[in-house]
Amino acid sequence: MIKFEGVTKIYKGEKVALDNVDIDIKKGEFVFLVGSSGAGKSTFMKLLLKEEEPTEGTITINEIQTTKLSRRKVPKLRRSMGIIFQDFRLLPNKTVYENIAFAMEITGNKAKDIRRKVPSVLSMVGLSDKAKSYPAELSGGEQQRVGIARAIINNPSLLIADEPTGNLDPVNASEIMRILKDINKRGTTVLVATHAKELVDKMQQRVIALDHGKVVRDVERGLYNDAK
Ligand code: ADP
Ligand code: ADP
Repeated sequence: MIKFEGVTKIYKGEKVALDNVDIDIKKGEFVFLVGSSGAGKSTFMKLLLKEEEPTEGTITINEIQTTKLSRRKVPKLRRSMGIIFQDFRLLPNKTVYENIAFAMEITGNKAKDIRRKVPSVLSMVGLSDKAKSYPAELSGGEQQRVGIARAIINNPSLLIADEPTGNLDPVNASEIMRILKDINKRGTTVLVATHAKELVDKMQQRVIALDHGKVVRDVERGLYNDAK
């Protein structure tokens, strides 16, 4: 599903953000990408989305080597991924329902499919009774659940979350992780970059740890801070 082979990213000014990274994530896996600030997590995500290009190495997503992908095929690549942000990034002037429906409209879905699908995804994230609310009327946890609903509405094969619980209290953060695991159980590959040690330890999923741009640990059912 995701393959990084010998990937190095050096930003302008010689800052080495990723250093010869090899990572192989199979379809259906749930993976935590951990590491302190500056370890290279965001760079990894940006390379996946083709927002940045590697300085060296190859990246393959769904059998397609994205490092060779022509520019006009990038939108299609991004549509195969659902993205969840730390700061939610909901449209403030649209209701919960409209925020989610909008993600289907811009990808050209039929009105009939939108009317059928939005309520089912809202129910999956436990927000059926908030369809008519605006983001500002919701708690942080609820806003993030809208973010998740929007990210999965077009059935991505890969769900990427960058610090999805960074702005949430522990109870809401746990709930968000539970929903992500639920989505994963239905077959979607999930990659979560996070600092949330307690959650990582509780979830017992694969953990890939970055430190100064290098993979220093990659374990099944790992903890945030296992011995290297
Ligand atoms: P985190 O992943 O901890 O939320 P960021 O990814 O925003 O943090 O930033 C991590 C580090 O990378 C910070 O030290 C920040 O200053 C640096 N950084 C992020 N984006 C840029 C940029 N565009 N140019 C230079 N440095 C950056
Ligand atoms: P993390 O997400 O784990 O905090 P990042 O991938 O944001 O780490 O950053 C890795 C390193 O690359 C950091 O040292 C950061 O300062 C640097 N960096 C990130 N983005 C840029 C950028 N656009 N230009 C220059 N340096 C950057």
